[in-house]
Order: sequence, then structure tokens, then C-alpha cells
Amino acid sequence: MKITHAYAAQDAASPLAPFDYQPRALRHHDVEIEILYCGVCHSDLHQARNEWKNTLFPVVPGHEIVGRVLAVGDHASKYRVGDLVGVGCMVDSCRTCPSCDEGLEQYCENGFTGTYNGEDRETGAITYGGYATNVVVHEDFVLKVPENLDPAGAAPLLCAGITTYSPLSHWGAGPGKKVGIVGLGGLGHMGVKIAHAMGAEVVLFTTSESKIADGKRLGADQVVISKDAEQMAAQANSFDLIVNTVAAQHDLNPFITLLKREGTLVLVGAPEHDHPSPQVFNLIFKRRAIAGSLIGGIQETQEMLDFCGKHNLVSDIELINMNQINDAYERMLKSDVKYRFVIDIDSLRQEAGA
Ligand code: NAP
Ligand code: ZN
Ligand code: ZN
Repeated sequence: MKITHAYAAQDAASPLAPFDYQPRALRHHDVEIEILYCGVCHSDLHQARNEWKNTLFPVVPGHEIVGRVLAVGDHASKYRVGDLVGVGCMVDSCRTCPSCDEGLEQYCENGFTGTYNGEDRETGAITYGGYATNVVVHEDFVLKVPENLDPAGAAPLLCAGITTYSPLSHWGAGPGKKVGIVGLGGLGHMGVKIAHAMGAEVVLFTTSESKIADGKRLGADQVVISKDAEQMAAQANSFDLIVNTVAAQHDLNPFITLLKREGTLVLVGAPEHDHPSPQVFNLIFKRRAIAGSLIGGIQETQEMLDFCGKHNLVSDIELINMNQINDAYERMLKSDVKYRFVIDIDSLRQEAGA
């Protein structure tokens, strides 16, 4: 009997701890992946602590997965044993609704199946994520990771990368556009790198004085301390697009004021408590917009990986062992990570004696 070794939270108050489970038998189109690295997204923490009030316990988080194909189902044709592959936030969707038809599975009208905290569409079993030695996923939801990228640094592309690439691409970041990125965490640092690689003028907004030099090194043309009203005022009415990755509730008005006429503030940060409603006049008088954006579709995720392969873009990471995950969560809450924790899954294999 095959066993997958993983780390799970048993309830919202418990730390993550070892958890074994039996993976599903390979279906015709399945790919079994030996996980090498898994990034640690702030969403993992929100979910493990049930901050979004929808967690199915036990939960095995992890949706920034990079690994090698170990086996494929008898009708699977997209991947071969040994391929370097990735899995992001989704492992299935209805495949028939208008959003799925357009390759926007993240907006599946019947709800996509999450890599973890989802329900398998065939059996109803809870899906378990990438804080694990292995994962079994339908080939249509597996991505090809460019071999020139460092696999540990590539793992965060599967969520942090696509979640910033998608709105930057949708709202046309590129030469001649001034783009703001709010928050230099996992998502934010990828947003800065990708917007810069797309050719936009990039301004980073951070609450942390200590991140100014890094912001510039990562590709920001300017770094603004968002708590400094004077620095903020100097940027008024100048942005085409601002992507806000902040994981906590805050006042949006100071950022809306920075948009040009018809500029857009896109929210990707998903805090436990909603932001207070912003001032309406601030929007009306310049036809400004507030929008939201959710990860990206499968085809777009592949496009993003290929873009990162071409530009040699990966995440700046801090590699941790599986048993350091609870400390990593505490540090993430203090914005103390440069700029993404990635779990070395070999440490889990060793711990489990596998
Ligand atoms: P992260 O690494 O913790 O980064 C969040 C950053 O926000 C921090 O580094 C910090 O940057 C800033 N920040 C944190 N608390 C703040 C506060 N109280 N006031 C102002 N700024 C604060 O988190 P992440 O993994 O990038 O995720 C960010 C958010 O996006 C989370 O809510 C996550 O659930 C969500 N998310 C959404 C999607 C989607 O599809 N929309 C996908 C993935 C994640 P500075 O130090 O620079 O200020
Ligand atoms: Zn994520
Ligand atoms: Zn659908």
C-alpha cells in the first residue's frame, strides 16, 4: 500500500504536524509527481487557521509545487516520467462552463477544485496539497517548468507568479505604463520582477523601510514608503495600474488617489477582514476603477512559466525544512521573509524515513 507523507493542520488552532494518507490510485489521465519543493503562500496560513471560514480539516496546504513525474496513467500523454513539472492552486474544474471554455478555470462557474481544501469531483474526497512527498493530479492541470529555472525558486511562480502576472497582463502592463505594486512579500516581489520584465515603469509601495534597497534590486524604478503622506502625495494622479498584494485590512483611499484618470487598482491580497469601503467621489471624478483578480488560468500559467523561463525569473527564496513550517508562518505574519519560504521536501522524506 502506497503512503504519502505530509504535514497537516488538524484544526484552526493546532500547529502543522506529520500526517500520512493513502493517495488515490492513478486514473487514466493522472500524473503522479514526486514533489521536490513547495512554496509557502500566505493563503496556506489563512487556510490552516480557517481565516476564510471554509477550511476542511485536516488540511494539507501547499499550492506552489515543483517536482518530477514519477508515473503516468495509461491514457496520459502530456508528460513523461522524469519531466520537471509544476502544480498551482487548481487540480480540476467543471471543464464545460463559459469560463472553463475560455481557459479561465480559476473563474469556473461551478467552482474549481483547489489543490488542497477542495473536493475531488469524482469521489468527493478532500484534496491534499504540496506539503507532501507526492501528489496525483490530472494531466490537464499539470504545468511544464522550464528546465533552465532553478526548481526551488520556480515553485513560487505557481501561485505568487501567476497571481501577479495575470492582472499585469490583463491590464496591459508594459512600455509606457506606470505600474504600482503594493507590499513586498511573496506576491509583491514577483509582481515587481514581472512588471519590470514586461517593460513597465515600476513603483513599489512598502510599509518596511528595510526593504527599499531590495525593492530597487528586484526591479522597482522607485520605492515609496506608503505610510509617508508626503511621499505618497508626490505620486498623485500618475498610475495606470496598481496591484495591491497586502494580506491585511487597510485604507484603500491613499492608493486610489494615485491613479490617473481611468486607472485601475487591482486587489489580489485576500485579508481575513474586508478593507473599509473607499470614498466614492475619489472614484467618480476620474472614472477610476477598483478590481479584483484571482490567480490565473492553466494556459496563462504556462504562458507565465515560459515568460519566466525566457527572462530567467524566479523567486528570491529562503529554503526551509518541513519541520520549520510553524516558525515560518509566524515570521510571515511579521513580514519577515525575503521573499518566499520554500520547503525542501527531501527534508520531509528524510523525517518520514521514506
Ligand atoms: P506575504 O508574503 O505575507 O506578503 C504580504 C505583504 O503585505 C507583506 O510582506 C507586507 O509588505 C505587506 N503587509 C502585510 N501586513 C501589512 C499591513 N498590516 N499593512 C500594510 N502592509 C502589510 O503574503 P503573500 O503570500 O504575498 O500573499 C498576499 C495576500 O495575497 C494574502 O492575503 C494571500 O492570501 C493573497 N493571495 C491572493 C491570491 C489571489 O488569487 N488573489 C493568490 C495568492 C495569494 P511590506 O513589508 O512591503 O509592506
Ligand atoms: Zn497562493
Ligand atoms: Zn467551469
